[in-house]
Amino acid sequence: MLSRVSVDPLGAELPNPLGIHEPNARRSRGPLGRPAGCAVDTVPLVRYRRLGDSDLEVSEVSLGSWLTYGEGVESEQTEACTRAAFDAGITLFDTSNAYGRGTAEQAWGEVLSDFKRDSYVLATKVFFPMSEEDRGLSRAQIHKQLDASLARLQTDYVDLYQCHRPDPETPIEETMEALTEVCEAGKVREIGFSEHPHRFRECRAIYPAPLPWVDAQNTERLDSYLRLIEQARAAGLPVKLALEWDYLPGFEAALERALGAHPWDYTIGSVHWLPPAARGGEWWGFDDPARISDWERVDVLEVYRRYFRLIGQAARTGLFDIIGHADVIKVMGYRPKADIADLYAAAASEFAAAGVCVEINTAGWRKPVGEIYPAPPFLRACRLAGVPVLINSDAHVPEDVGRDFDRAAAVAREAGYRETAAFAQRVRTMAPL
Ligand SMILES: [Zn+2]
Repeated sequence: MLSRVSVDPLGAELPNPLGIHEPNARRSRGPLGRPAGCAVDTVPLVRYRRLGDSDLEVSEVSLGSWLTYGEGVESEQTEACTRAAFDAGITLFDTSNAYGRGTAEQAWGEVLSDFKRDSYVLATKVFFPMSEEDRGLSRAQIHKQLDASLARLQTDYVDLYQCHRPDPETPIEETMEALTEVCEAGKVREIGFSEHPHRFRECRAIYPAPLPWVDAQNTERLDSYLRLIEQARAAGLPVKLALEWDYLPGFEAALERALGAHPWDYTIGSVHWLPPAARGGEWWGFDDPARISDWERVDVLEVYRRYFRLIGQAARTGLFDIIGHADVIKVMGYRPKADIADLYAAAASEFAAAGVCVEINTAGWRKPVGEIYPAPPFLRACRLAGVPVLINSDAHVPEDVGRDFDRAAAVAREAGYRETAAFAQRVRTMAPL
């Protein structure tokens, strides 16, 4: 996403290329005009002013990165200069995709990712060649180059996107339209309702009986859920109808019947239960906090192996559009000591073969494990296998809807993703991340 755009129609390297025209410093940062936490506390080193007619406040001195970071100087110096700039109260950092053909942005992405994104104003540029074909200000290039800059800068928005030169081969209208599009690109496009089916009596058949944990909560009627979504749609909300289905091996036929009963926009398939290890044993809800002590008695690697086999199997049923929180087996924080790259790769290739998407699910950050699903190495394996993704918050309360999407998008980009999936009536479309 992009919050601001400036076009310099003359394309000159102006001494004041950011269009600052408010002469007086606006010192809203405390008595000395510096951000809180600044290391120097005697004389104000820099003053602040508004950027053009925007609502952005910037330091009057900015740090630029042409011919230096990522190119002329080593990473230690890059980091030292950048940190010194922060210490001096500088809040405006200005680079370009073309500086070092991306290496300047890359170098800064690594350093700036340590700082809170709202503690600095980030400016970059587009126009100069990035490869034989990639140059200029066409619509396609604006979208492509901005995405690439965001990935290198490890952020999901720049504050100021500048046209480095005019492009005589592209009508200015096309450039402006493309810039408007990237500005308007929102973060939450639609709201998917995907309750767990164990809540609904109509879905009881997809679970073994008895299963006390499910039986205790199996009290609602699906009708009331469907009606609620109808009402939200009637009120004009961009709402999608779904459930997050539990996959339990052996219950595929019941699942298929339940899935066929309503016009879902998408189906999420998740594994929350491991089947009994021996005949007569019980199903284990491994993410149930009441059963956490079970983890102390199991072979963690073996449990992971069983879990990963099951999610592959879930994908292969062809019943699901999306695999939910694909490595939720880690939820309680128990992890095998061994490297499990082979499990990731095997699951990713099952997902690819089955044509399912994987959700990047921010709820993991709110769970004991404190890590997004899937873990970055697993996500990279999915990317290598060509598995599409989408970003979900798995919110159980309204405040969590869309939570941490910025961070999740950065994780997706880091893994190499540039697009996310969306669904309507079980048809998948792709949109820029
Ligand atoms: Zn779940």
